[in-house]
Amino acid sequence: MRNDIGGINFEPITTLREPTELIAHGLASVEDLAGLEKVAARYAVAVTPDVAALIDPDDPFDPIARQYIPSAEELVARPNERPDPIGDDAHSPVSGIVHRYPDRVLFKLVHVCAVYCRFCFRREMVGPGKATALSQGAYDNALAYIRAHPEIWEVILTGGDPLMLSPRRLAKIMADLAGIDHVRIIRIHTRVPVAQAARINAEMVAALKVEGATTWVAVHANHVRELTGKARAACAAMVDAGIPLVSQSVLLRGVNDDIDALEALMRGFVECRIKPYYLHHGDLAPGTSHLRTTLEQGQEIMRRLRGRVSGLCQPDYVVDIPGGHGKASAGPSYLSVENSFSPEREPPRETRYRVVDYCGDVHLYPPES
Ligand code: SF4
Repeated sequence: MRNDIGGINFEPITTLREPTELIAHGLASVEDLAGLEKVAARYAVAVTPDVAALIDPDDPFDPIARQYIPSAEELVARPNERPDPIGDDAHSPVSGIVHRYPDRVLFKLVHVCAVYCRFCFRREMVGPGKATALSQGAYDNALAYIRAHPEIWEVILTGGDPLMLSPRRLAKIMADLAGIDHVRIIRIHTRVPVAQAARINAEMVAALKVEGATTWVAVHANHVRELTGKARAACAAMVDAGIPLVSQSVLLRGVNDDIDALEALMRGFVECRIKPYYLHHGDLAPGTSHLRTTLEQGQEIMRRLRGRVSGLCQPDYVVDIPGGHGKASAGPSYLSVENSFSPEREPPRETRYRVVDYCGDVHLYPPES
């Protein structure tokens, strides 16, 4: 008999997990084998057929490969990088729960994903060799914690990828959570629509809907090519069932850190009825510096995005403050004080601001008469 919350479905036969398999499929070069073996011994590797099919093996700078194919650069950890970059552990009252903000918790159910992203901020916690899911006892404790904290309005299922659970198991978890009166929102963070779209079948969509709480799904994608026909159909199935979708992406060097790529991604989300939500600055996860931009580069690209697309296509560019202090908006500011209110002047002078428009031109507000 299993002693964990279980119900995880893998497709181990077709997912590439070994460097030798990546080489055999033309996704890595044999000269890199020794380095790749070292990376794979430290961090999980998984490339699903959906993702493998997207990679152009002839393009050494392919933005899809960069997200999923390991690189020896991952063995170089910078001094400011850390195993728990966003400080989950500092806010974990019981196993599986992160209670950082008053009205919501993260509920980390599983530690497996369909694919393993090379920039993952939980790369030290997910993948083979770690526990695949919470034990039944830990799950019960986590539910008891949520039940005992009436301020928890939203539960965010994350991990790992919660859609690696079987629909039957997921439906039970959704019902458990929705059965707690004060839990009104259940949000699910997932890469499955991109990485293994076939999992979003009628059973899975039905499992996502539950009486007593509203489900939101946050879809993780970083390049518009990940929004394939299959991925779009999976998202459409959820939206058509009445489940609202939001996006989350990571700003990644060589993947989406140019304005054309980011614009195409955000337009792609909106076309899929996914509201752009978060663009994360790369976290300080070990061995990921080759994929990070600077905050200045992030602000500049956000400034340019503002000039190109409507508010519907604008994500919030955020940085997670190391140590567990939560997210902060890191986007550019469009407003600064030109001069402050001064009651001593005759007549009193009201505060005037400098406002930057979408073209980058500066205006005074209110205008000088
Ligand atoms: S799917 Fe999410 S949790 Fe899993 S490896 Fe990618 S970023 Fe990490």
